[in-house]
Amino acid sequence: MKIIAVGRNYINHAKELNNPVPTEPVIFMKPDTAILKDNKDFYYPEFSDDVHYEVELVVRICNEGKHVASKFAHKYYDAIGLGIDFTARDVQTKLKERGLPWELAKSFDHSAVMSPLLAKTEFPNLNELEFSLKKNGETVQVGNTKNMIFDIQMLIVYISKYITLRKGDLIYTGTPEGVGPVSIGDKLEGFIAEKAMFSCQVK
Ligand code: MG
Repeated sequence: MKIIAVGRNYINHAKELNNPVPTEPVIFMKPDTAILKDNKDFYYPEFSDDVHYEVELVVRICNEGKHVASKFAHKYYDAIGLGIDFTARDVQTKLKERGLPWELAKSFDHSAVMSPLLAKTEFPNLNELEFSLKKNGETVQVGNTKNMIFDIQMLIVYISKYITLRKGDLIYTGTPEGVGPVSIGDKLEGFIAEKAMFSCQVK
């Protein structure tokens, strides 16, 4: 499986990092070694002093798809979860300044926290789904899928023009505003609406 992630998919997050609001999705990937499941601890990596949390809604692909048409895109995902796209912001900033790919800032081991997945049919309206992140008990990010620049279906259409989607692939759909640093000792907890989805201790 592969993890495809979307950058700058919420206007207020693009603005908080002084990035332009994109006219096409910004796509990058994480390897399967990035996955951190089952509420396991996250160990702060030695190559960064500025790791940021980015809470994101995650979509699981359920069919092989290439050049998926918009009207069929809804058939290509079957489950929803919540994750964190951990980002070594200092590494990313250095790479961006030099016009280089972000890869190492985004794809390092355990940079993709992942909750259990729930059938999408459990959610009455995926186009207006609230999710949030607490750090040490305090809410630091609140997002709603209605504020996505490119919605889930548009992402499936766009990505599948370039990359064949396969059953089991995950799409991290982008983070809302409020990203910030984590420190050793922090506890991160993710929620979809009121439902607790994951907990992650930074060590
Ligand atoms: Mg992200």
